Amino acid sequence: MTQNPQIVTDVEMAAALAADQVLQAFDQGTFSVGGVLLDNTGKLIHALHNNVVKAKTTFDPTAHGERQMIDWYFEQISQGGQLPSPAEMTVVTSLDPCCMCAGSILHAGFNVTVAAFDTQSGINYDTKADFPTLAPTVRAKAKSTFSYPAVNGTTSFARSASGAPVPKFFAQPVIDEQTQALCLTAFLATLGSVRDSVSQDLPPDELIDPTTLAADDPIIKALQDIYPQTLQYRGPARSAPDQELLPYLTRAAAIDRQQGGPGQAVALLDYFGNLLFCLPGNIAASPIKTAFMLTTRSYAFLRYSLKQQIGQRVYQYLGHPKYGTFVFLLGPDDSAASLIDLGAYGSTMEGPLPQDNPNQFQYWNASMDPVALSAYCAGLPPLYSQVIKVNPVQVAVAAKRA
Ligand SMILES: [Zn+2]
Repeated sequence: MTQNPQIVTDVEMAAALAADQVLQAFDQGTFSVGGVLLDNTGKLIHALHNNVVKAKTTFDPTAHGERQMIDWYFEQISQGGQLPSPAEMTVVTSLDPCCMCAGSILHAGFNVTVAAFDTQSGINYDTKADFPTLAPTVRAKAKSTFSYPAVNGTTSFARSASGAPVPKFFAQPVIDEQTQALCLTAFLATLGSVRDSVSQDLPPDELIDPTTLAADDPIIKALQDIYPQTLQYRGPARSAPDQELLPYLTRAAAIDRQQGGPGQAVALLDYFGNLLFCLPGNIAASPIKTAFMLTTRSYAFLRYSLKQQIGQRVYQYLGHPKYGTFVFLLGPDDSAASLIDLGAYGSTMEGPLPQDNPNQFQYWNASMDPVALSAYCAGLPPLYSQVIKVNPVQVAVAAKRA
C-alpha cells in the first residue's frame, strides 16, 4: 500500500500494479499471481499476492490473491472500516480467477478485470467469456462483471477485449503486451516448480495412526485446540462414514446457522477413518468463510504450524488430505457459494486423487439432483474436471460402493 491514496486511471496502470504483486509472489516461491482492489474512482484500496506457499511449505492452499482480498475487505467492514459496497469495487487480477476465487467474487458481488487467461483452472478457461460451466443466473452475473480488456501488441499475447466492459473510471481500457506477458509467463514459470517444492507428503503406507500418540503429544494438543472432539469418532477407512458421524455434523451445523450460514458442516476424516475436525462456517464474518473453507484452511494451518514446531514428524501422523475423506452435511449445488467450495476443494487436492480413494468427497444430504451435480462438475475448468476429477458422492452411494 502506498501512503497517499493512489489513483489508478487506466487499465494498464492497474495491470502493472498487479504485475508488481506477481513479482513479489515469485520471490516468495509461491504461485506468481497478484492483484489490486480499486474503488469506483480508481483509488487503490489494497494490493495482495498469492500466499499458498511460505518458506517452501504449503501455508494455505486457499490463499489466492482474490480470496484473501475478499476476506480482507469483510474484515475491514467488520472493524468499522468505511468502504464502498462490493458492487462499487473492482478486483484487478493478473490471472483469470480459479473456481474458488470466481465463486468468491460472484458470491460477494465484486467486479473483476483480468490480465492473463488461465486455460487450465480459470473460470474463463475457453477464453470466450461465455462461462459455459456456470448455472444461468451465475453466468449472467459473470458476463456483466468479469472484464477481459484488450491487449495491445503484435505478438500472441495481444488480444481483443471480451466479457463485460472495463469499469468506467478507467480512462484507457487497454493492457500492454509486456505487462500481459509478464503476468502469464511468471505464473506458468511457478506452476510446476512450486508444487514440486512443497511436496513433502508421505505415501499413505508410511502414515501412522494418530490415535497411537500419547495424550500430551503436541500433535494431539494442536488437534484439540481446533476441535475438542478430535479422534472421538472412527469410521471405516476411505469408505463411507456410518450414522455415528451424523451427531458431530448436526452439532457443527447448528453453530453454522447461528453464524449466518445455511446449516452446513464439514468433517475431515484421516486415512485411518479418524475424525480430525468437524467445523461450521462463519458467514457472519465473511460471506466466503464457508464450512469447507474453514475446515481445509484449519488443516493446512495446523500442518504448517506443527511443521515449524516439531518438523517433518507431523507428516507421519497428519497426511495429505487427499488420502482422507471430506464429508459435507449439505451437498454442493450450482450456486456461486458452492463454486467457492468446489474450487477450494480442487486447490486442496492440488493434483489427481489417489486411485484407491474414489470416495474422497462425500455429502450426507443432496442439495441438487446427484446426476445433475456430476454433470455440472464434469463441466468445470480442466484442472477440476480432467486432472482432479472432482466428483462429490452421497454417503449412501459411497456406502454401497464399499
Ligand atoms: Zn483462485
